[in-house]
Amino acid sequence: MEIMYSSTRGHGGKVTASQAILKGLAEDGGLFVPDSIPSLDKSLKELSEMNYQGVAYEVMKLFLTDFTEEELKNCINRAYDSKFDTEVIAPLAYAEGAYYLELFHGATIAFKDMALSILPHLMITSARKNNIKNEIVILTATSGDTGKAALAGFADVEGTRIIVFYPKSGVSPIQEKQMVTQKGANTLVVGIKGNFDDAQTGVKKMFGDKELEKELAGKGFQFSSANSINIGRLVPQIVYYVYSYAQLLKEEKIKDGEAINVVVPTGNFGNILAAFYAKNMGLPIAKLICASNTNKVLYDFFETGDYDRNRDFHLTTSPSMDILISSNLERLIYRIAGNNAERNSELMADLSSKGIYSITDEEKKQLKDFYGGYADEKETADEIARVYKACGYVMDTHTAVASSVYHKYEEKTGDKTVTVIASTASPFKFTRSVMNAIDKKYDAYDDFTLIDELSKLANVKIPQAIEDIRTAPVVHDHVCEINEMPDVVRGFLK
Ligand SMILES: *Cc1c(COP(=O)(O)O)cnc(C)c1O
Repeated sequence: MEIMYSSTRGHGGKVTASQAILKGLAEDGGLFVPDSIPSLDKSLKELSEMNYQGVAYEVMKLFLTDFTEEELKNCINRAYDSKFDTEVIAPLAYAEGAYYLELFHGATIAFKDMALSILPHLMITSARKNNIKNEIVILTATSGDTGKAALAGFADVEGTRIIVFYPKSGVSPIQEKQMVTQKGANTLVVGIKGNFDDAQTGVKKMFGDKELEKELAGKGFQFSSANSINIGRLVPQIVYYVYSYAQLLKEEKIKDGEAINVVVPTGNFGNILAAFYAKNMGLPIAKLICASNTNKVLYDFFETGDYDRNRDFHLTTSPSMDILISSNLERLIYRIAGNNAERNSELMADLSSKGIYSITDEEKKQLKDFYGGYADEKETADEIARVYKACGYVMDTHTAVASSVYHKYEEKTGDKTVTVIASTASPFKFTRSVMNAIDKKYDAYDDFTLIDELSKLANVKIPQAIEDIRTAPVVHDHVCEINEMPDVVRGFLK
């Protein structure tokens, strides 16, 4: 069955999967959604006998229906290869009563790699399918993690270029080092004299600049976006939920058809939405537990039905979840409104004009499979220490938010359902916060000593991504003013 995509705001008609991937965001500002969610057409038993790449094909073929088998398998094989430090790609680790689905074994040791390893291949395949001869130029503004994962994904992919803008004084030293040491002749990394919002606004302006578009088209270039609302990022994320279920079945931790719970540390709502889509495909998931940090907009939303971004923004030790507008939530809102674009547009207009919207009781009833929880800074640190002291397993701060929420959920409800917790980053990416949670004495150590200490304590080899930045030379040292961004782009695309 052919799946077509349309905007959550109702304009612009239907497009194919490849066209949706190329466009990223719909022209009316909405997000592309599939006209229906396909059901898995292989049994759970059959899936349990497949490797990661096999499951990826079985899931993605159902959404990306205008890709041929050869095209899709090609993309999958190029993405999920030795860039990952384990053949199983997304292993499950058991600790203290839950299964941690480790999504951080890719090039940049965070879960963004799961989708950004394959997006470049989906994009050039989409360009070819739609007879686009231009080179695809990915423009990204980053507050740290997405930029590096996108750079690693697109580096040296033929037919693409990638330009990343980051706030020069607004990312962590490790994040900056990761980006400015990025190899690949098609990559450009630029620090801007401004904050993340300035970078983001500058990039959005360029996307909307018709004159720049025309000028670059004349030179054989066109812009595209790799951010998390692209359907080409959402679909690959469904795969690992299906795969984790299949692995539990294979290892006889669950019976065929037995429902599991899933816990996801959430920011932009992309990862947990993928789990929701997996459930709608027929994967037996009971509860979708949405874990927030101190920026608990989503927790409040699930409690009250009001999404209210009018509040203080907190910087936390789980920075990738420090978000007040969870863009991908729009896809869920559209759905609980009965796939009603008009109603969704109304709510999104409220969000942009008043910073708040409220759903009806009827709509709220449809969120019954979701459970919202949050963990504050102390609970997050305590959870890292608790699990480490109990069994030696060390998790990162984002995963700890989810783990803490799960622990509290279990105590409150007594629900003993087998549970998978999405583990979204390696503890080596947030070494200082992780080590300080275990013992305050580590505060006095320097960054690289801490890394060695973590390796000893967790009995885990230091990931290649970390080894690389110890010695890698800086290859990007460009810094610009906010208003110079378009000229920087022109200069790179000569
Ligand atoms: C991006 C990110 C998240 C949040 O994922 P969303 O899909 O935005 O909800 C959580 N943890 C880490 C480490 C991340 O990089």
